Amino acid sequence: MALHTSEALVLRTHRLGESDRIVVLLTREGGKKRGVAKSAAQSRKRFGGALEPFTHVRVAYREREQRDLVRLDYADVLRSPLAVGGAACTYASYFAELLDEWAPENHPEERLFRLGVAVLEALVAGGDAERLARYFEYWLLRLQGVYPSTQVCPQCGAALQDGAVLEPRSHWFLCRRCAPGAQGVPVPATAVRFLATASQVAPAALGDVTVTTEALEQLAAAHRLLLVWHLDREPRAARVLREINP
Ligand SMILES: [Zn+2]
Repeated sequence: MALHTSEALVLRTHRLGESDRIVVLLTREGGKKRGVAKSAAQSRKRFGGALEPFTHVRVAYREREQRDLVRLDYADVLRSPLAVGGAACTYASYFAELLDEWAPENHPEERLFRLGVAVLEALVAGGDAERLARYFEYWLLRLQGVYPSTQVCPQCGAALQDGAVLEPRSHWFLCRRCAPGAQGVPVPATAVRFLATASQVAPAALGDVTVTTEALEQLAAAHRLLLVWHLDREPRAARVLREINP
């Protein structure tokens, strides 16, 4: 059995029998792995507090050929959303769920891993969770190559700096003149500028961006439309977030 050590983000955990846990991880070098944490319920020394969704951990695991499940030896916490607690943990679950949806099994996807770690760092440092959520959604879709252009309207070529409308059938951002009637999700100019900044800075720098709560809400509605379109459903944790942020 080959022994590996790696940094990883915990994506989710579920019970396996009385005391074992199945842990889904996004490892830095090996992509998504499913592992068994033996006696995780009792062994606080090896796994204590390390199995919460979106915890950044250092893990050691053993992998056998022809086996889908790796065996986790231990997981040490490097950074945990529990350090801030409260709503941050709900956001952390949301980020972990989205990574779980998009990360390929057993295939390295280091940019997704680094996105997750950078957003977790900013969250733990007290960054605004709504800004971080929009940043995370933007980069997640962009890394998959499916975020629509925020530069120019694909119908007329006009610049979108004065605001755009996410057209619900094509899922493109159109300029206001090309967007038909009341259809689509309006994204104001400040939200377009927020995205332009998000494309260039680390998540820790988002606090300096001037953007209103209302503009972020409109961007949230646009991102929900894009995510549901690509996932064919709404992320479970997104519903929980809506309940805590009515
Ligand atoms: Zn146009």
